[in-house]
Amino acid sequence: MTHPDYYDKFKCIADKCVHNCCRGGWEIEIDDEALDRFSKLPGEFGDKVRASISPENIFIHKHGECPLLSPEGKCEMVLNGAELCVICDEYPRFTEFFGDYAERGISLSCEASADIILHKKDKSEIIFDTAADCDEPIFVLLKKARDDIFAILQDRDTDIFKRMRLALDYGRHLQDRINENNFKSFEYTPSDTFSNHRSLSEIIPVFKELSILNKEWAAMLEKLEADEQSRLRHTLDPIIGEQLAVYFVYRYLLKAAFDCDAFAKLKFSFLSVMMIAALANSFGNIEECARLYSVEIEHSEENIDIIYDEFLFNDAFYHNNFINIIS
Ligand code: SF4
Repeated sequence: MTHPDYYDKFKCIADKCVHNCCRGGWEIEIDDEALDRFSKLPGEFGDKVRASISPENIFIHKHGECPLLSPEGKCEMVLNGAELCVICDEYPRFTEFFGDYAERGISLSCEASADIILHKKDKSEIIFDTAADCDEPIFVLLKKARDDIFAILQDRDTDIFKRMRLALDYGRHLQDRINENNFKSFEYTPSDTFSNHRSLSEIIPVFKELSILNKEWAAMLEKLEADEQSRLRHTLDPIIGEQLAVYFVYRYLLKAAFDCDAFAKLKFSFLSVMMIAALANSFGNIEECARLYSVEIEHSEENIDIIYDEFLFNDAFYHNNFINIIS
């Protein structure tokens, strides 16, 4: 399957992980095949597994922890040689299917993955090691556009904020083509329309209204809002910014093949980078800011959908306003 070049570097650090995913308070929905296997697990351990599953087929977390997490922070399913359910087995990997073609990646919400992605020094590359492909015209256009956008984002002679603004501007032209049902590739002439820095303070209330999993996140948003009102510009390590931008564009842009809204995917990508940069400017530790952002936002389809709606109806996200927060 297609994947970023860092994909195979992931290795779970298990009991050394500070934010073990089994402690995130996430609801792990168990797939039917796993439920069937769990129903046949013998002995005391089998009874424990079955007692840990709610009537909705979700592992019932106790005090925010998976009931099958050992006191040493290891998974009792693994310790007992039992096969995991799909979600536990996959995480932090994700897969997106486009017909027979599939792409994989690792999620920023896992601290081991965040460490790999944020500390990669060379330019990230996508490895296409599959004969499968999708020949839908919009998909072909989006895939070519993604390559063009990676080239813009990985132009290390240009300021990282300007790279994101140009990529967003490219996205505007891309969206015009899609709206006209014209899926032929096009030549892009770079145009940076940045005029005046805007802080993220108008945007943070949107994040405060989303559903929130961790109280630390709520406290961070509260403080960030106050800090943003006094902030002139953001600082962002250009290589970390590039890796983040490429991660989000890789993960989200091709999803526009399903809803034709490529511009929203790019806005979401660069909004995410800017939120992580702003959080890191307030709290330091960009790895932890990126991880928590991903847990709270990326892992909630409901939250992402609300953000996409805001792009349509909130003035702060209109192009001329939004472009000015990327600085
Ligand atoms: S968050 Fe990542 S490194 Fe930590 S336990 Fe989960 S998969 Fe392993």
